[in-house]
Amino acid sequence: MENWKKAFRDFVIEKGIDCKEDFSLKDFTSFRIGGRVDFYINPFKSQIKEVFSFLKSNAIPYFILGNGTNVLLPDTHIKGVLIGSRHLSGIKIDKDEVLSGSGVVLRELVSFSIKAHLTGIEFLTGIPGTVGGAVFVNAGAFGSSIGEFVEWIRLYDIKQEDIKIVNRNNLVFSYRHSSLRDVFIIDVAFKLERGDREISKMRVKEFGRKRSHLPTEPSAGCIFINPALDSAGRLIDKAMLKGMHVGDAYISEKHANFIVNKGNATYKDVVELIDRIKEEIFKIYNIKLNLEIFLFKESKGGIYEERG
Ligand SMILES: Cc1cc2nc3c(=O)[nH]c(=O)nc-3n(C[C@H](O)[C@H](O)[C@H](O)COP(=O)(O)OP(=O)(O)OC[C@H]3O[C@@H](n4cnc5c(N)ncnc54)[C@H](O)[C@@H]3O)c2cc1C
Repeated sequence: MENWKKAFRDFVIEKGIDCKEDFSLKDFTSFRIGGRVDFYINPFKSQIKEVFSFLKSNAIPYFILGNGTNVLLPDTHIKGVLIGSRHLSGIKIDKDEVLSGSGVVLRELVSFSIKAHLTGIEFLTGIPGTVGGAVFVNAGAFGSSIGEFVEWIRLYDIKQEDIKIVNRNNLVFSYRHSSLRDVFIIDVAFKLERGDREISKMRVKEFGRKRSHLPTEPSAGCIFINPALDSAGRLIDKAMLKGMHVGDAYISEKHANFIVNKGNATYKDVVELIDRIKEEIFKIYNIKLNLEIFLFKESKGGIYEERG
């Protein structure tokens, strides 16, 4: 057994950190693709600093996930530690802000806000991620994105090795992108408007209805970011690529910007299908498609994410 594993096991036991060993990521991700990772931990807020400090001083590779709904993970054995946000789950009203733990799922954030007579984020209905993941990627739909409502974020700054608060004027959000890097998001404060509960509930219904055409098979949502002034799905559809597949990874018939796992799709199948789509779209339209999902790749030192 590798020494670092014993040291890490001793550390989590001593500190009482919620930890699962040799954890399967296949059912953790919405794509239903992923290998096993050495350790999956879910620290409480008070444990975050010592976790990162231990990982750094022992040079243990790690990566962060929320609900795993915007990622493609390797299906080999993943060396290191997955850090999750399950225990960062509190949500409350603080003056006129909703203060949410990063592990709260968006569905809960929306319904909590509506109960508190607050409005604005109903468009998040149906996006299956956590607050942390959504803010990190600036998730959105129907012309709105979550970043527009962020007032401040409490995070662990991995480089500075400290917990700090970042205000909205020091954050940049753009289409499916935020300026957050090398951070573990802990809490997010949202500024919402006062509204009418019944109207909000109707909006939720309407957004839900608009999403009812989306594929229901395992996927990671939209694969590509929409190119300027166009939609990736429209281009893929127009190029007659719907139904194209590699193994069990298919371009969805329902939504051309979704790759769905029709059973036993592998990491390699999805990567190959992505490359083929990119090639075709470039050949036909001279447009370079960029990934919306985070593609995790393996290296000697652990895994890292890319979004090219
Ligand atoms: C069926 C379906 C429909 C979808 N529809 C939409 C949509 O309409 N709009 C949209 O924008 N997205 C959509 N998505 C994609 C996805 O649900 C969102 O991007 C979501 O916000 C990702 O949240 P997550 O918790 O799953 O993040 P993950 O996939 O777990 O992680 C995504 C990224 O965020 C980082 N991250 C996660 N949590 C933290 C944290 N606490 N601190 C720091 N970094 C963190 C991860 O390291 C990773 O880089 C859809 C996905 C599916 C499967």
